[in-house]
Amino acid sequence: MKILVTGGAGYIGSHFVKYLVLNGIDVAVLDNLSRGHEEAVPTQVKLYRIDLLDYDKLSEAIKESKADAVVHFAAFAYVGESVENPGVYYQNNVIGSINLIKAVNEAGIKKFVFSSTCSLYGNPVKVPISEEESVKPINPYANTKYVIEMVLRDFDFAYELKSVCLRYFNAAGCDFDGIIGESHEPEPHLIPIVLDAALGRRKSVNVFGDDYNTPDGTCIRDYIHVNDLANAHLKALEYLFNSGDSTVINLGTGSGYSVKEIIDSAKKVTGLDIPYEIAGRRAGDPDVLVADNKKAKNILGWEPKIGLDEVLSSSFNWQKNKKY
Ligand code: UDP
Repeated sequence: MKILVTGGAGYIGSHFVKYLVLNGIDVAVLDNLSRGHEEAVPTQVKLYRIDLLDYDKLSEAIKESKADAVVHFAAFAYVGESVENPGVYYQNNVIGSINLIKAVNEAGIKKFVFSSTCSLYGNPVKVPISEEESVKPINPYANTKYVIEMVLRDFDFAYELKSVCLRYFNAAGCDFDGIIGESHEPEPHLIPIVLDAALGRRKSVNVFGDDYNTPDGTCIRDYIHVNDLANAHLKALEYLFNSGDSTVINLGTGSGYSVKEIIDSAKKVTGLDIPYEIAGRRAGDPDVLVADNKKAKNILGWEPKIGLDEVLSSSFNWQKNKKY
């Protein structure tokens, strides 16, 4: 099988590409490198430097790739930025993805895996969150992901394009060899920020609110290692190649940690002090987001294997000597 990966130079995408290469699977990457890193793509992998908004080049590359399936990571993914600049998010994530889906369909490819998000659930009624939870996105980023889930449903109905929408909880950690990792500019995510504070690269961590409805008052999230996500994507492809029907699946560990617990665990793992200050709440943060991952276990036969200490140690290993 040959897989085309959009956003394969980005954080989660590059870990998946590496995972495919290690498993001997033929892969090509399509990325405009606006936020991705060329260094994150193995040199032996063909990289199409193309923007999803450029339909003609996109369509040509997809046909040339001779891919049997597409895994679509490419997207802007900062909630705060999406609130400030919704037009850019709708253009890039919605129009770009629709271009891709149309071109994939035109090329006769019938299998598609899509990076979706647990932020579709907004403020969930029931935690752990199953796929039965109603979808009520509360920011433009989540809206863009939901629109594409609906587009995929309609393309299945019209053309039998089969898709798996994977709703990630908090992607975290880095590859264990320290060669690829997480690098966002600016960095909005808790774990790299906590580790930067441990390394003395920032004075302290701002804890966004300690008055949430959780045992220590700070938000609880489900941190899933990128290599566990990579493994789940391969299982989603296998499911589609085994004639699986279109579906949506949560990807999380099923265990939640508060912001303060992350700081405490990071202190333990690094052996370093991590100063923090309580700051105001960040807009749009729900109290608790933890996955019910039974569907992933039942349908994909997938199980997360990497725990929080390894999430933190692999991330620390990368952050110390970041290559990009
Ligand atoms: N957070 C925080 N300080 C930071 C960054 C994040 O307290 O500097 C909190 C944030 O409010 C959320 C959790 O850490 O409750 C995880 O945030 P992150 O941005 O890593 O992921 P998100 O949950 O937004 O996808």
